[in-house]
Amino acid sequence: VPLKPGRSLMDWIRLTKSGRDMTGLKGRLVEVTEDELAKHNKKEDCWICIRGFVYNVTPYMEYHPGGEDELMKAAGTDGTDLFDQVHRWVNYESMLKECLVGRMAVKPIAAPKEGAYRKIIFFFFPWVSAKDLVSISKHWVGQIQFQLSVVTTQVYDWFQTDSLITIVIYTKQKDMNAEFVILDCEDKRLRGEIIVDDYSYLLEVDLEHAIQEDMAVNIAEKVGKVEIILKKKDNVRWKVLGQPLENHNTFMKRTDRGLFYRKCKLVSKMEVTHNTKLFCLLLPESTHLRVPTGQHVYLKQIIAGTEVVKPYTPVLPFLPLDFKEPSCHDSAHIYLMIKIYSCGLFTQALDHLQIGDYISVSNPEGSFKKSQVQTSEDLFLLAAGTGFTPMVKLLNFALTEVSCLRTVKLIFFNRTEDDILWRNQLEQLALKDERFEVQFILSQPIRDWVGKQGMISSSLLSEFVKRSRKDSKVLICICGPTSFTEQGVQYLKDLGYSQEEVHPFTA
Ligand code: FAD
Ligand code: NAP
Repeated sequence: VPLKPGRSLMDWIRLTKSGRDMTGLKGRLVEVTEDELAKHNKKEDCWICIRGFVYNVTPYMEYHPGGEDELMKAAGTDGTDLFDQVHRWVNYESMLKECLVGRMAVKPIAAPKEGAYRKIIFFFFPWVSAKDLVSISKHWVGQIQFQLSVVTTQVYDWFQTDSLITIVIYTKQKDMNAEFVILDCEDKRLRGEIIVDDYSYLLEVDLEHAIQEDMAVNIAEKVGKVEIILKKKDNVRWKVLGQPLENHNTFMKRTDRGLFYRKCKLVSKMEVTHNTKLFCLLLPESTHLRVPTGQHVYLKQIIAGTEVVKPYTPVLPFLPLDFKEPSCHDSAHIYLMIKIYSCGLFTQALDHLQIGDYISVSNPEGSFKKSQVQTSEDLFLLAAGTGFTPMVKLLNFALTEVSCLRTVKLIFFNRTEDDILWRNQLEQLALKDERFEVQFILSQPIRDWVGKQGMISSSLLSEFVKRSRKDSKVLICICGPTSFTEQGVQYLKDLGYSQEEVHPFTA
């Protein structure tokens, strides 16, 4: 929502550093009962619990980008679920540090739902039949307060040669691939996360001995076996793999894990348009990370002493015309196309980074699944401004790997001609690949513009989004400013497209 002048994130940061007593408790931390929490449920006196910690958000009301009403939905209650649904990535610990009232007196442990048990049991005991699974999981749900963190069944093995340590994880997942394995190692702390749908398995150990930076990951896709190969620094025999860390050998919902960041080096920064740049970040050598098509990462910077986090969607270094993985698109780099806003808190700080500086990059997130496009015959991409970014990898994937696709159409909304991202490349692609078509629509053309002018509307969509055949399988992806995306989704619904046929990209 539009915030009053003087209520930006930077203004909030300044206020929190001003020394003002934000909680009304003069720095004292208290234990808060549920009854006490419930009493603070008004705009002028509002406490909210997030993950067991209680914050007095009264002074934050006017600064909340989602508006006061959104914040009030959690007033006097445990707002963790609501927070996770809307913006789990926001670094509230840092932003609301000065508003901390204390801890909840009793933190109830919610038992995971039955479906979650089934997934967990299946992951750890894949030999259990579906029938037994139902009775076991029912039994467990009823009988046991099952703490995921105490699961001790080992789903990995490890062995060594003189020079190598190999860790083998048996996921039993049929379509396991490199995008589902995220690996980091810093100062002997090895963290391997394996994504299984909405869940993740974590291997987290303080290794017994040092290893070299380059690690390898081998995947037997059909059986879902993942091998992590580490090179020993010294030729010594390891007695154990290492000391297990807090979340070692756990399998839980991805949304229940905190975001994990690693520091990446800025290696280049290139102009795309007058206000948009292509940033190239180099992952550490000891990181294995591939950002899947349609997913985004979070960047974290410390701005005026506060950790600020914003989402960005990796692109390719350029639009490939021959649809083979371009040679410079190696997995060591992440490319981000970012618009620098003249009054933007995060993008201004980003723009001030020098080549060689470091910035924290999270694991990927996002709800888009490649399978959504794999059976499509017509693909429509509706993008506004930097809402173009998820379309880049999507275009590459669709034109390279989806054999049943007949048409791919990008409808790209911008203010002026100068704002169009990668216009040349898009036009070249349209010439080169007859399945691809691009339509630029400008809302505020300044020079003579012979193309289409306007904003997203029902009539415009009915003109441009049409099935190539009466019964074509269609997927429409839409991304841009929130209200652009929301309006687009509504117009498409009104035009008769089903929910499965429309994918909005959101945070
Ligand atoms: P702020 O300080 O938050 O805002 C300052 C001013 O900038 C605002 O008053 C407004 O005029 C303008 N502004 C800021 N944010 C927006 C916005 N979202 N829409 C319109 N105007 C705005 N951006 C990219 O450039 N590239 C990406 O790949 C990208 N991927 C994203 C992926 C997701 C899932 C989401 C939710 C957003 C993505 N964004 C992307 C937007 C990005 O996260 C930030 O919102 C943006 O960079 C502005 O941050 P800021 O702190 O500089 O601006
Ligand atoms: P912009 O330049 O402000 O707008 C691009 C075009 O969209 C302009 O023609 C603009 O028209 C139009 N537009 C803007 N708001 C609109 C609205 N509410 N309804 C209809 N048309 C609208 O865009 P930008 O600054 O690049 O911002 C891109 C947005 O995409 C950001 O909000 C960013 O957060 C979002 N994004 C999201 C993701 C994701 O995955 N969720 C990824 C990347 C970017 P006028 O300005 O002339 O009205």
